[in-house]
Amino acid sequence: MSRTGDVVIVGAGVIGLAIAFELIERGASVRVIDRGEPAGAASWAAAGMLAPYTERVRHAALVRFCAASLQEYPGFIARVAAASGVDAHLRLDGVVHAAFDGAELESLLRHAQTLAAERVDCEILERSSLLASEPWLGAFVVGGLRIAGEGCIDNRRLGRALLAACAARGARVERSSIVRLECDRRRALGVHTERGFVAAGAIVNACGAWAGRVDGVPAHCAPPVAPIKGQMIALAAPIGLVRRPTWVPGAYLVPRDDGRLLIGATVESAGFDERITAAGVHELLHAALAAAPALRDFAITESWAGLRPGTPDGLPFLGRTPLEGLLLATGHYRNGILMAPATARSIADAVEGRDTGALEAFTLARIGTEEAFGRRITHA
Ligand SMILES: Cc1cc2nc3c(=O)[nH]c(=O)nc-3n(C[C@H](O)[C@H](O)[C@H](O)COP(=O)(O)OP(=O)(O)OC[C@H]3O[C@@H](n4cnc5c(N)ncnc54)[C@H](O)[C@@H]3O)c2cc1C
Repeated sequence: MSRTGDVVIVGAGVIGLAIAFELIERGASVRVIDRGEPAGAASWAAAGMLAPYTERVRHAALVRFCAASLQEYPGFIARVAAASGVDAHLRLDGVVHAAFDGAELESLLRHAQTLAAERVDCEILERSSLLASEPWLGAFVVGGLRIAGEGCIDNRRLGRALLAACAARGARVERSSIVRLECDRRRALGVHTERGFVAAGAIVNACGAWAGRVDGVPAHCAPPVAPIKGQMIALAAPIGLVRRPTWVPGAYLVPRDDGRLLIGATVESAGFDERITAAGVHELLHAALAAAPALRDFAITESWAGLRPGTPDGLPFLGRTPLEGLLLATGHYRNGILMAPATARSIADAVEGRDTGALEAFTLARIGTEEAFGRRITHA
């Protein structure tokens, strides 16, 4: 699809940067253009959980794509670390889901049976063994499920690592207050920026929750993506207190190596509003302290919000558009950090014209544009 040396990626979140890194490692020369702070937006705001089975991703093609991405993570991070010298703190020693009554435990049991049938390594934990590994959980915990091989990454470090890796390999990542695509009836030609026009053999729209609003994109190529707000807070907890990312009713807790304990996240349709609200913080604290009263005296060190790129059917938009030379890599909703390696690989394949059919389920064509704009964005 493109001549080597002329790929422009619009949007420098983890998705755009991961694609840029993959392409440049394959020999392309790549330019990434962002109208804001590179490696900011949702990619900075996320919790960094790598947990498709805990998240109960349902659509078969999406499950396969997420599982592939999870498998690719160690190799991908090793390549990024080799180029950047930055350790993104990848941890894949399991995710815990804690239950606080018999009905929740029963539901976890059924989930474990489904996963076992799909050969996913997981185990039901009795109350005593769960408390032995996660003693901070409250007195009312009745048991849990541990899914092996899932985990988390420090997504802010990942963003910095990708930026450094792109720079080290020679990809230009730049900010521009003007970002407007130039297209004719048949194909995408390039991007106007504040420094002039950049001609492109291929353009990848990786603008996250804003991907449907990029200037110059014809309406029939604009993905129906909508922002789904997530608020989070961080507590200062003793290092090692919480050993693994843990789901409790109404929230999840993700430990960072520096002792920060992230608590997330709300799921709200609030347009492009990124304020942190009293209700949002209350919801998170209420859920976390109900599960673990031991956290009540820790200081709140940070609160933030970000916008997930939601889609009408919960699937991302990946690959070609009706316009030659214009590709999409957006709509990753709750799992964009998880899906970064597989997205980078498959979009790089598509840019190189090696379409393996792997992105069939994620084409823009699956959704009639009119229908898509009329439908509500799913929260599932
Ligand atoms: C609170 C929260 C918790 C989350 N937790 C997890 C998690 O645990 N695990 C997980 O896998 N995922 C998680 N996610 C989802 C994940 O963060 C996103 O799916 C992912 O970051 C999307 O990456 P992106 O690069 O597509 O978008 P973004 O990171 O939002 O980047 C989009 C970029 O495009 C730029 N841009 C926008 N418009 C334009 C334009 N017109 N021209 C140029 N540039 C433009 C923006 O400035 C931005 O830099 C979470 C999200 C939130 C908000």
